[in-house]
Amino acid sequence: MQILVINSGSSSLKYQVRDTQAEEVLLEGLIERIGQAEGGAASNPVTDHAAALELVGAALGELRIDAVGHRVVHGGERFSEPVLIDHEVTRAIERLNPLAPLHNPANVLGIRAISAKWPELPQVAVFDTAFHRTLPEYAWRYAIPAELYERHGIRRYGFHGTSHEFVSRQAADFLGLPGQSFDGVVAHLGNGASVTAIKAGLSIDTSMGFTPLEGLVMGTRSGDLDPSILVFLGRQGYSAEQIDDLLNRESGLLALSGSNDMRSVVEAAGSGQQAAQLALAVASYRLAKYIGAYHVAVGGMKALVFTAGIGENSAEFRALVVAKLAALGLVLDSAANAVRSKAARLISAVDSAIPVLVVPTDEERAIAEATAGLVSRLS
Ligand code: ADP
Repeated sequence: MQILVINSGSSSLKYQVRDTQAEEVLLEGLIERIGQAEGGAASNPVTDHAAALELVGAALGELRIDAVGHRVVHGGERFSEPVLIDHEVTRAIERLNPLAPLHNPANVLGIRAISAKWPELPQVAVFDTAFHRTLPEYAWRYAIPAELYERHGIRRYGFHGTSHEFVSRQAADFLGLPGQSFDGVVAHLGNGASVTAIKAGLSIDTSMGFTPLEGLVMGTRSGDLDPSILVFLGRQGYSAEQIDDLLNRESGLLALSGSNDMRSVVEAAGSGQQAAQLALAVASYRLAKYIGAYHVAVGGMKALVFTAGIGENSAEFRALVVAKLAALGLVLDSAANAVRSKAARLISAVDSAIPVLVVPTDEERAIAEATAGLVSRLS
């Protein structure tokens, strides 16, 4: 099948056409600055998501498309797997807008633009939250009054689920284990970062919560902090918008080191800059604590898996994290850790108590495969 994968953000639209049999990318592109026309529409014709899809249509040319798979950030409590999109599903995604105000409205715009342009094409929604629908209640509940959950849906949802699921299946394959018997910990370390505890192939805990802000130190997000800090800042006169910006866009590696790019942070630390060294120490310590906690949650991990931009490429950051897990018997093979490769690989030493892997993620491939699977079952 030839699947058009759409990842629609508020001002950008990423697309890929994948052949799911040949496991091949036939076409890909990125349209940016949607609706941000400066000096009138003439200087930027991409006025909205429908205009962006006209550009995608032109790029497709004669290429056959059998179905469209959308990355949808928030599936709330309803969606635990990919679904075929109809009007009712679109409205259900739209009703989740308050939980993901930056993302879900853009996803809905993308879905509607496709329905208008190619009404006969099956569309599938693949949710970032879906893989985490198996979290037990003791892991997803916050210890706050139940009314906040019942009235506002305030609970932990988790994100990056498509990646965590894909990577854990690949890791199980690599180790020669059936997916249903994989107990492990997956660290997805990109600009956003999260770590997931996987027991018998299912997500049982994950570091992102109500929003992607909870958990690890990220490029520009703080991760965990004492919620009283927000109250304190509110009393100091910070607006909700300012606090949101502060914690989501001005914190993390950027706040600690001056850069949100791991390559620059590692380089600066290597040349002796103390702020960068501290940033690496804070981020690797936070992640190592989570891995230790999730080792307990899964009853003893059979593998630790690194993925995404930092997880796949930063041997330095991986080494810092694994060094902090020596108490669990984890030992890296430093030569294997230094190898640059696009393939799944083992980076732990033979005497490591638990194997450590690097497994490249591919969310577009996972979305294309889920879409093809669902559409072919239904037709
Ligand atoms: P996104 O969450 O936007 O998909 P990515 O998965 O692409 O992000 O990860 C981006 C992060 O990966 C950045 O911090 C970047 O510095 C880091 N990264 C990419 N390549 C390397 C590399 N060769 N060495 C170290 N870090 C890298």
